[in-house]
Amino acid sequence: MNLDGKVALITGAARGIGAEIAKYLASLGAKIALVDILESEMKAKVAEISASGGTAECFICDVTDWDSVQRTVKDIVEKFGGLDILINNAGITRDNLVLRLTPTDWDIVLSVNLKGAFLLTKAAVRPMMKKKYGKIVNISSVIGLFGNPAQANYASSKAGLIGLTKSVAKEFAAKGIRCNAVAPGYIETEMTTNLPQKAIDQFLLSTPLGYSGKPKDVAAVVAFLCSSESDYITGEVIRVDGGMAM
Ligand code: NAP
Repeated sequence: MNLDGKVALITGAARGIGAEIAKYLASLGAKIALVDILESEMKAKVAEISASGGTAECFICDVTDWDSVQRTVKDIVEKFGGLDILINNAGITRDNLVLRLTPTDWDIVLSVNLKGAFLLTKAAVRPMMKKKYGKIVNISSVIGLFGNPAQANYASSKAGLIGLTKSVAKEFAAKGIRCNAVAPGYIETEMTTNLPQKAIDQFLLSTPLGYSGKPKDVAAVVAFLCSSESDYITGEVIRVDGGMAM
């Protein structure tokens, strides 16, 4: 796979899966725009990528804020001369049973996980249409496929991302823009290490391969979906879950 000269915007890139995707795409030659609200963590990732010979810049942006998103995409296009790849990865959890889940915790999860992906897509398709080519990858979750107690907000946002993926794939196919989703299972990051041990054990029990995934397992599939090798794939959801949702 070769991404030489491609410009890739990755949201939630300060750490976890997003940071790994940034490093992986950089190793394939892409110029990386890391987007997140955590400045110091992003700067550390930019330094890491630069030290291994890659090109990266960081941009502070709250994906829920349309003005901030528009400004960020404009800055990235000016800085790098275009935009070829968008990875909607920023995501949060605010878990609780429906009876205890507050409307605020519903709104914030839907806002970051789903509205954020819509806003970034809306801003990114214009520069992609100019090139008549683009790749969008949305990071969904197996929870969006089969639901989970105490995660109604998260599951709804991740199922919604699949609807967004298929709609964008159909709407922009004629413009050369492919849009796909990746649905990870249990991946070791800060988001999951804070889960109660009981929940972790349950996830592992329901994973046929019997072990947790690493951010790199997700990054490798995302890289494939960003490369020309996957040009005949659009509107697809690929699980990276050790078999959990099969
Ligand atoms: P993570 O370590 O918590 O990283 C998520 C990143 O997104 C953080 O840097 C976070 O910053 C950032 N972010 C949050 N709100 C933002 C906003 N409004 N604007 C910009 N950036 C924002 O999570 P992860 O485990 O790497 O997960 C990455 C994606 O994979 C998420 O969409 C998640 O739902 C999905 N996923 C993860 C797993 C898993 O097992 N880890 C499984 C399935 C799907 P803050 O720390 O400040 O919030």
